[in-house]
Amino acid sequence: MQEVLNYIAGEFQPAEDGTTLYDINPALETQIATIPRSKSSDVEKAVVAAHSAQKAWSSLTLEMRAGWLDRIADALEVKAEHIAQTETLDTGKPLSLSRRVDAARSVSNFRFFADFARQQTPESFEMDDAMNYVHRTPVGTVGLITPWNLPLYLLSWKVAPALLMGNTIVAKPSEITPLTANILAQTLDELDLPAGVFNLVHGLGPEVGQAILEHPGIQGISFTGGTATGRIVARTAAPMFKKLSLELGGKNATIILEDADVELAVQGAVKAAFTNSGQVCLCGSRIMIHEAIAEAFIPAFVQRVSELKVGDPMLESTDMGTVISYEHLQKVESYIELALEEGGKILTGGTQAMTGHPHPEARGAYLRPTVVTGVSSASRCATEEIFGPMVTLHTFTDEQQALDMVNASEYGLAGSVWTKDLERGRAFASQIESGIVWVNTWLHRDLRTPFGGMKLSGVGREGGRWSMDFFSELTNICVKHPDQ
Ligand code: NDP
Repeated sequence: MQEVLNYIAGEFQPAEDGTTLYDINPALETQIATIPRSKSSDVEKAVVAAHSAQKAWSSLTLEMRAGWLDRIADALEVKAEHIAQTETLDTGKPLSLSRRVDAARSVSNFRFFADFARQQTPESFEMDDAMNYVHRTPVGTVGLITPWNLPLYLLSWKVAPALLMGNTIVAKPSEITPLTANILAQTLDELDLPAGVFNLVHGLGPEVGQAILEHPGIQGISFTGGTATGRIVARTAAPMFKKLSLELGGKNATIILEDADVELAVQGAVKAAFTNSGQVCLCGSRIMIHEAIAEAFIPAFVQRVSELKVGDPMLESTDMGTVISYEHLQKVESYIELALEEGGKILTGGTQAMTGHPHPEARGAYLRPTVVTGVSSASRCATEEIFGPMVTLHTFTDEQQALDMVNASEYGLAGSVWTKDLERGRAFASQIESGIVWVNTWLHRDLRTPFGGMKLSGVGREGGRWSMDFFSELTNICVKHPDQ
């Protein structure tokens, strides 16, 4: 079994009190690693290390730090297959997905921010009698807290711009998926990143995560996770006036207008619903279908979903692996049962008790992709974030009704609209209360664009210059021209 350690002040080390937690492979339900169950004393050590590295790191030029990002990207790229295999072992997601999305994006996050920094020009604003210069300094030591669904993808999305802007880091990955964060720490160590610039502290959210939030020496928090945890983060960090970025949950809609290309919409809706077993914050878990196209769309959608191959995540042929854990499987199954109580009908899928184990030769947290119809758009199944392979279908008769259903959600993270009329799609998208809306596509990302949510889906934006803004403090320096 692998022994994962904290990475503090350039040293791999156990938790100060020596306690550990097990990391479980959800496909085999076996223990694959131990990780430190760190406490506030470990966070304290990480903050001291980060502070001692801060001055030297922030005094490098932006170009020099961009050079570091390039070297990190190159080193991770060499390990891309190892990262993909490890992510699959830790999460149960298909290896093809780990390769295409997790490993590839972890590399490109570093490469993107390095290139993006080089394209920036200094900002200044001229007045008749003075010149204003926008001067950036790092926030300081920042706390990065990330979830289990896209472990290295989301951690690197924060680490790259934080390093670029001259910050030092205390990071905590989800204790459910610690392995690729450990690969990142090993990579930075091999590259001789100065000690203390990046510190990784493993452990439980209410212990390590909470200690990061509470530490007065951490000036900014970038958090991605559930809305309930986001409330704790805000409640703890806001009174200390820490800079805060909150990327939280969602209940995203996929809207099929009556003029949609049925084949394209089916493909897109399946991908939006069931990628990573529905465990992407952007997944479209409620599908709104115009009545005029429902007869063509619904049977084709259900057919396609029932053809998805659920099985061993290490096999190339697998479309859907496990969900993240057996506990999470039970949560998703409880929603399938709730759907029946709420008057719903299952068109395909169901709980293991209803349909049998989808991968009979294995144990593991496998669940069939499940499609439910007949529940109200105001039902719990259609309004609460389930974060698993289950979607609800709803029909509408006009655009206003669709918009009312979509915007009734307390969340506002993402959505997709499917129509052959691109102008109509764009106009419709602009009325959806969400941080991102795709027209005729899903999860199509340009890393320069703002990313984040409205309402219960979060506060603030990351991506491109928004990440650079979050991870820096801005001083306006106004220089008066000499009197003529
Ligand atoms: P959680 O909110 O449970 O956990 C996220 C992180 O916060 C984990 O590292 C967790 O540690 C930590 N944490 C838990 N409690 C505390 C605390 N008191 N103080 C500080 N940190 C704490 O989310 P999940 O890991 O379950 O991830 C799924 C959620 O993430 C979904 O709601 C999903 O929508 C959301 N998400 C949002 C994204 C976005 O961009 N908007 C992207 C991806 C996911 P531990 O694991 O030890 O509990």
